[in-house]
Amino acid sequence: MSPSRPPAPQATHEPLASWLRRCLDGEPIPPFTLPGGSAVPRGEGLLELVPESPATDAHACIFSVGIHGNETAPMELLDALLKRLAAGELRLGAPVLVLLGSPQATRQGTRFIETNLNRLFRRDLDRTGMEPERARELMAAVDAFFAHHADRSPLHYDLHTAIRGSRYPRFAVEPFSDSVRTTAEQWHWLAGAGIQAVLHQHCHSWTFSHYSKHYHGAQAFTLELGHALPFGHNDLAPLAPMASLLAALLTGQAPPREAPDRMRFFRVEHELIRHSEAFRLAFADDTPNFTEFAPGTLLAEDGERGETRVGDTPLSVVFPNAAVELGARAALLARSVPPPD
Ligand SMILES: [Zn+2]
Repeated sequence: MSPSRPPAPQATHEPLASWLRRCLDGEPIPPFTLPGGSAVPRGEGLLELVPESPATDAHACIFSVGIHGNETAPMELLDALLKRLAAGELRLGAPVLVLLGSPQATRQGTRFIETNLNRLFRRDLDRTGMEPERARELMAAVDAFFAHHADRSPLHYDLHTAIRGSRYPRFAVEPFSDSVRTTAEQWHWLAGAGIQAVLHQHCHSWTFSHYSKHYHGAQAFTLELGHALPFGHNDLAPLAPMASLLAALLTGQAPPREAPDRMRFFRVEHELIRHSEAFRLAFADDTPNFTEFAPGTLLAEDGERGETRVGDTPLSVVFPNAAVELGARAALLARSVPPPD
């Protein structure tokens, strides 16, 4: 007789508890059951959670993480949520699609491989390469999921962390739309989830959350949840209210609410574009997001376009990055606005 022992029985929901690790190890994931439903892999880093009996007014929810490969806090947040579901602490009550944006970039601990994935989510995309191919896979997964759940309100939270520090470490970027209005309940939920500021986009920008809003009419946001740090270095405690929001949506229950005026609101006024090699931002590299500059302040100098200065109203700088490709956005300039009605 062989002395080898039989393999230890796998916990029933083990593939859910180890989903992130399996994605990063490139391990195949089979379909499996979970408390309240089942899980169906839809491709690399794509997992659909199918409830047996969804709550009547549950949304069709997409939670995406790792669109930038080195933004690990949202991955740990989602991993913890799936572990709670696997352990039976939560019961699935809504259709949910979870997406790990760029497993290859995450394995390499880098923001992206060839180009910024979060600028490529448009149906007329004609570029080739690793990130464009991945954008097509992600767009197809979103299309199939929302088509399959066309009877439910579509919702997409794309979770990120920022390169810089921020006056408001947790903030939402509301994608531009000329037809879809963000519902009042979303502002209450985001305030309840500890979001501190909201940035309204002023024009189309082809991000993942914009894709779901523009093409599917989804309630959709890019959520910036603190600072980009390596795995194991994230402090998830400040994200506990966000975890509660995701858990409520996943179980099909009403999320915690707070008054929207707890948050500060900003609207993008200009995009600062890098036009030439001779480009520099006129402030320190580590200037936190939402730092406000007074009228007349020099913001940037460009070899082609000359100086950019603040006009008559103070402007706050968001996502400054002088090292972007030519023709790309080096910063957003935003103005403080009142909360929406
Ligand atoms: Zn990001």
